[in-house]
Amino acid sequence: MTASSSLLQGLRATRAFIDLDAIAGNVRAVRAILSPTTAIMAVVKADAYGHGAQWVAKIAIEAGAGSLGVATVGEARVLREAGIRAPIVLLGSIDPAEAEAACLSGVEITVADLSLLEAVQRAARIPGAATPVAVHLKIDSGLRRYGTLPEQAAAIASRIAADSKLAFAGVCTHFALADEPAEPFTDEQLRRFHHTVALIRDAGVPTPRLHAANSAAILTGRAIDLDVVRLGIALYGVRPSAEVPLLPGMRPAMRLESRVTRIVPLSEGDSVGYNRTYRADTAARGALVPLGYADGFRRSLSNRGWVGLGGTKAPVLGRVSMDQTVVGIPQGIDATVGDVVQVLGGEPPSAAPSIDEMAALMDTNSYEVLVGIRQRVPRVFVRGGEPFALRTIEGD
Ligand SMILES: *Cc1c(COP(=O)(O)O)cnc(C)c1O
Repeated sequence: MTASSSLLQGLRATRAFIDLDAIAGNVRAVRAILSPTTAIMAVVKADAYGHGAQWVAKIAIEAGAGSLGVATVGEARVLREAGIRAPIVLLGSIDPAEAEAACLSGVEITVADLSLLEAVQRAARIPGAATPVAVHLKIDSGLRRYGTLPEQAAAIASRIAADSKLAFAGVCTHFALADEPAEPFTDEQLRRFHHTVALIRDAGVPTPRLHAANSAAILTGRAIDLDVVRLGIALYGVRPSAEVPLLPGMRPAMRLESRVTRIVPLSEGDSVGYNRTYRADTAARGALVPLGYADGFRRSLSNRGWVGLGGTKAPVLGRVSMDQTVVGIPQGIDATVGDVVQVLGGEPPSAAPSIDEMAALMDTNSYEVLVGIRQRVPRVFVRGGEPFALRTIEGD
C-alpha cells in the first residue's frame, strides 16, 4: 500500500482535493508580472476560500507571497497556531471590542474611523500586545463599504503616526468593479485614492505602503505598481469574472469528488426524492451519491445540476437532500457501487461542472461556490500529483 492510499483509507467518499502545486503556480504567475518591489498578499480569508487556510497560507508564502489577508481575528489565530510567522492583515472591519484579541494575536489591523482606532490604541498598551501594533488605514474611494472618506483621512493618519505603540503599515482602498474592465470607475477610484494619499502627505505624515489591487485589478494590470497587491480568487486559479481571464499557467486548485454508494433501479413512472419532483418516463437506473446541501451541493441544483460519471454528464434527479443525491446513470454507462463521481472541477475526462459553470447553475459567483463547500467535506492536499496531507473536521 502506498503512503497516499493509506492516507485516504476509510475516508469519507465525498472529498475535496486541493492541488497545492496549482496554488504555488498561481502565485508565481502573478509574481512574474509584478515588479520586484511589489509584494503579494495572499488572501486566505474564509478558510482560504474553502481550500484550507493553513496549507494554502504555507504554500503561498513558500511560493513568494509576503503576507496574508484574513477577515476575522479567529482566522489569524488559526494561522498563528499552525506556526505561520508571516504578517497577517485583517482586511475588513472588526468590532472595537475585538481590538484586544487582535493585538494579542499579532495581526495587523485595518482601521477606518476613530472608534476602532482608539480601541486599538488602548489595546496596544496591554501586556502581551504586539509592539508595535501594525495598523493600515482604509480609504473609501467609492465602494461605500469599509473605509474613511478622503477628507477625514489625514486626521486619522496623523493620529496613527503620532502613537509610538503603533506602526503605520499601510494605506489602502478596494475597488467596486475591477472585474468589469471596461468600466471607468476603477480609474476614478484610483484617482481619488492617490488624491487622498497626497492629502496625508501634505499633512506631514510619511505615507507607508500603498495597496489597492484585488485579483481582477492584478489580472487587468491596474494598481499593480503600488507596494502590495491583494491576491484572492486568482490565487485559487479561478477568474474573478468572465471578462477577466487568468494569466498563462494559472489553474484551479480545487476539485470535488464522491463515489456511487448504491444503484437505484427505476421503473417507468417512479418518482425520485422528496416531493416527487422527478418522474422516470422509462425504466432506468439512478446512482446514489453521498453528497447534499449540507456539503455545499445546493438544493437549487435539484433537477438542474449534473455530476461527471464515467466521463459523461449525469443529471441530478429530483431534489438534492441534505446528505444524499440521486443522479441518472447515462445511457451506455455501466456504473457500479464504488465508481468515482466527479462533482466539481477537475481536468478531462472529468465531466463535472467547472467552478464557473457551477456558479451559473447555483445563480451565484464562483467565490460563493468555493466558500460554500462545508467543513465536513475532508480536504485532501495534493503535491506532485500525490495526496500528502488531510484535513477532516467531523460534524462541521
Ligand atoms: C477579499 C478581499 C480581496 C481579495 O479579492 P479577490 O477578488 O478575491 O482577489 C482583496 N481585498 C480585500 C479588502 C478583500 O476583502
